Amino acid sequence: MSSEAPFALRIEIRGVVQGVGFRPFVYRVAIAHGVRGWVSNGPHGVSIHAEGTSASLDAFLHAVRTEAPPAAHVATLTSRATDVVGSASFVIRASDLVGAPTVRVSPDLCVCDDCLRELRTAGDRRYGYEYVNCTNCGPRYSIIESLPYDRARTTMHAWPLCEACEREYRDPADRRYHAQPTACPRCGPRYLLERAGATALRGDDAIAAVVDLLRAGLIVAIKGIGGYHLACNAEMSEAVATLRERKFRKDKPFAVMVPTIDAAREIGELGPEHCEALASIARPIVLAPSRRRLEGVAPGTRELGLMLPHTPLHDLLFRLGAPSPLVLTSANRSSEPIAYRDDDARERLAGLADAFLVGERPIARRVDDSVVSVQCHGPQVLRRGRGFAPAIVASFPGAPATLAVGADLKNAIALVVAGDVVMSQHIGDLGDLETDRAFDETVRDLLSMFALRADEVIVAHDLHPQYRSTLRAQSLSALRHVAVQHHAAHVAAVLAEHGRLDETVVGLALDGTGYGHDGAIWGGEVLVGSVRRGFRRAAHLRVAPLPGGDAAARFPVQAAAGRLYGIVDGALRDAPFHLPARFAHATALVERGINCFPSSSVGRLFDAAAALLGFVGEVTYEGHAAIWLENLATSAANDDAYPFARLDDRDLLGALIRDRRAGRPETEIARAFHLGVASGFAEAAVGAARDSGCRTVALSGGVMQNRIVTSALARHLDAAGLSTLCHRLVPPNDGGIALGQAAIAALGG
Ligand code: ZN
Ligand code: ZN
Ligand code: FE
Repeated sequence: MSSEAPFALRIEIRGVVQGVGFRPFVYRVAIAHGVRGWVSNGPHGVSIHAEGTSASLDAFLHAVRTEAPPAAHVATLTSRATDVVGSASFVIRASDLVGAPTVRVSPDLCVCDDCLRELRTAGDRRYGYEYVNCTNCGPRYSIIESLPYDRARTTMHAWPLCEACEREYRDPADRRYHAQPTACPRCGPRYLLERAGATALRGDDAIAAVVDLLRAGLIVAIKGIGGYHLACNAEMSEAVATLRERKFRKDKPFAVMVPTIDAAREIGELGPEHCEALASIARPIVLAPSRRRLEGVAPGTRELGLMLPHTPLHDLLFRLGAPSPLVLTSANRSSEPIAYRDDDARERLAGLADAFLVGERPIARRVDDSVVSVQCHGPQVLRRGRGFAPAIVASFPGAPATLAVGADLKNAIALVVAGDVVMSQHIGDLGDLETDRAFDETVRDLLSMFALRADEVIVAHDLHPQYRSTLRAQSLSALRHVAVQHHAAHVAAVLAEHGRLDETVVGLALDGTGYGHDGAIWGGEVLVGSVRRGFRRAAHLRVAPLPGGDAAARFPVQAAAGRLYGIVDGALRDAPFHLPARFAHATALVERGINCFPSSSVGRLFDAAAALLGFVGEVTYEGHAAIWLENLATSAANDDAYPFARLDDRDLLGALIRDRRAGRPETEIARAFHLGVASGFAEAAVGAARDSGCRTVALSGGVMQNRIVTSALARHLDAAGLSTLCHRLVPPNDGGIALGQAAIAALGG
């Protein structure tokens, strides 16, 4: 075979390959290797016809496989020999748009180094331009109004390109070839500073003025990629306190932004995994132990949420002297969703912000910041938002199209299409008008992006008959509806993200709340089974009455009254407990069996322990008391564990009360409690594994965000010769539920 004989290859690539500079990349690689032919976007991805010598085609194919642009994600690449047609050059062909789209929409991308260089270079025509972007970076999902992805169907359609931008946009060799959101200060949108309802300044002047306002301690609403943030100087405690007051946010930590990794290191204890997550293309909020006290920023916890600039605007603000660290928290009141439409922001944030930095580019949909923590097994996504959504989180080959609507808290939606599971952005806690609307929009969005109608898909929802998500799912005219038990969904979610669809495992679902098959409130469950054959309940935390039901989650002392009934006599009104009257009232309800619900929730067990150790007030955000308790335990080093045999918490709480009365430090008690919970559940899992012959334990549920519990569990299970599976891509909390629902509904027998 002569090396000069021409060959031809047909190459098909699927994955995130549109809107990320993939075709110009293929073009450049083809030119570099002397390959002729064409590349085009189709409904299923990118197609290439390549002609050349076998050596040049080998080199070309290798480069396409290994040198793809940073934001691209190649899921599959197939190549086969085809007929030589005698192409004279290599060209980028117009898009071929027949058939149903299975192309993946790219998440929003952080600003790239090339764009940053232009932003910072005096004389460059985009010097200081807050909306600089290219095919390797910038907004995607947050500006798409419909598919296929091109400028006319994004929120950039109102800005026609100037001559210079047009030239770049048409040049296949340019970094901005078909960069849909591209713009420059001459033709594109700008930011405006508004104070007291009137536009004060535009462009560079507006940004410089905002820096001064922030330095003076004011609160500024700043439009970001997927919504508005409220920003203030994190080192000015009065500004932070004012922000808390205006937001009605008592205790929930604020995230802070810093300009560089070095600045992040000054305030956070960062390991290599923290740094990698911080600098990753998604630029999430990363939780890390704090090194410096920032008054009021993260009260009651030693952890701090850190993030790096992800837009050119943030970089500009810091370069012009904005204070660092800068509080950057979602712009809303308390539990409302983040504001993203300008008019809505002006109205809802009127009393919250002293000034508005309004970007002219509209946001097509709300996308919150993502949150990542570093667990003992590595980085774990706690909230999938900007940079992560929408994305494929698992694949179910051959599975029917399925829509899973998640649960009511931390809602997120999953869609199974063409064997891939696409996960939506974090939507929030349902029950608020705006959040419910976002839920409906996201369902519509996901279906229309993949050209599906509700009556063509299976719809999965939680077993809870009263969940809003359940009721909304049932109102969809689906192929059929499948109700999935909450904790089976949690366990199936871990299995799905690891591709363990056939394996029978022991699942530990340690959780706040979830509707059980018997109508009780579950949440401390040892399940055995598989995605395909379903799960059975092998063991569970002792069932105790929960006075007030799910509403008891607001008052740890209420949970304590239920779990302590029959263990303690008296109201624990005296030292060292000082439990308030609410405890005695709740105990009276339990005694008379009024408004009490049977519960095996571990979340409520943590609440009870927290109440006994001094958390006697109201919880102001989900997991508040548990985070407080974990924080206490973090500063102790004892390795004794309270007894918790057969998941009977009476011994566990009894030991806690005894130690507390004896004056043992709260930190040590909190730690012995954590270790007791972990060893009790590990023992139960080992027992279930022995009985069922399983070798793997899957860990899920909101409690798995607790580092002490998770690492102790993993240690025990490892010592027993069992392997553990933990969440990485989807949250262990209810933000991951949709994936598990989708798995069971699409694959279950
Ligand atoms: Zn760029
Ligand atoms: Zn321009
Ligand atoms: Fe849950």
